[in-house]
Amino acid sequence: MSEFALIRHFFTALGAARADVALGVGDDCALLKVPAGQQLAVSIDTLTAGVHFFADCAPAAVGHKALAVGLSDLAAMGAQPAWATLALTLPSADAAWLAPFSASFAALAHAHGVQLVGGDTTRGALSVTVQVHGFIPDGAAVRRAGAQRGDVICVSGTLGDAGLALRGLLSGSAVAPELRQRLEYPTPRVQLGLALRGLATAMIDLSDGLFGDLAHLLTASGVGAEVALAQLPLSPLVAKVIAQDGDWALPLASGDDYELCCCVPAAQLATAQARAAAVGVALQPIGRIEAETGVRWRLPNGEMWCAAAGSYDHFANS
Ligand code: ADP
Ligand code: MG
Repeated sequence: MSEFALIRHFFTALGAARADVALGVGDDCALLKVPAGQQLAVSIDTLTAGVHFFADCAPAAVGHKALAVGLSDLAAMGAQPAWATLALTLPSADAAWLAPFSASFAALAHAHGVQLVGGDTTRGALSVTVQVHGFIPDGAAVRRAGAQRGDVICVSGTLGDAGLALRGLLSGSAVAPELRQRLEYPTPRVQLGLALRGLATAMIDLSDGLFGDLAHLLTASGVGAEVALAQLPLSPLVAKVIAQDGDWALPLASGDDYELCCCVPAAQLATAQARAAAVGVALQPIGRIEAETGVRWRLPNGEMWCAAAGSYDHFANS
């Protein structure tokens, strides 16, 4: 198969067949229709071998994650995913790599009704760029700005699992399969993002760790917060590491969780949790929005934890 035939084979008609796609892969441009009364939410991310994933990472994992990280951004705005484009840089047109990559990308695309509508293919060091497009009713997007004093800060799922998996892989030790799954096949919280529309005052997805990502939300909102570390939702394996060494870096400063962090008015917390439960995700309150800027991180023993004073290299650049 020629290089072009290979690309056509793996990337034409990938994902859902959508009625709003007048023209998909194959021409100079795709032709797409945004529904009346909706805004187009757009986000792009690049995953580069050796930087964002190990060069020998399973192609299925790369295909999944390349789309998942974009869907997580759409989720964080409360957008309904619709289309994706894919820019692939490959050392060679290797069918044995492309087949599982595209199958895994397609499975996640199907699961969220996403159609691949175009892309670009070049030769070079392995790198995958995905742009995602979604719809939000005019004015309904949940932004980072909008958190109000008194709002409850919540996070979905559990924090630090991907970071613990990465630690294991980097140190060459055994990694529990459920942790590895969290690192290589993250679940974008698309349904949760949609469910929180009209309820959350501010939202962000946790791609770089709660410590930095919550700071982005607070800065955008012009507020501060107190967070109770004892309330962070942790898997048993991450909780065990913290119990052993007292290091909060895993849930706070390791990336790749792709959970949502949102703020809801205190009176709406139960509704938000019920909506989350209805889409199969736990939503855990971890703190409160305060007028004073900055974050007060309260340790389980009641004392305040200070990142700047700690010996935490992980927080140095935050
Ligand atoms: P052009 O040179 O006009 O930009 P290309 O030869 O790059 O066109 O691409 C031809 C068609 O194939 C376009 O519709 C483009 O969107 C699509 N395409 C190329 N590479 C990919 C890819 N990796 N995934 C999806 N579509 C792709
Ligand atoms: Mg062209």
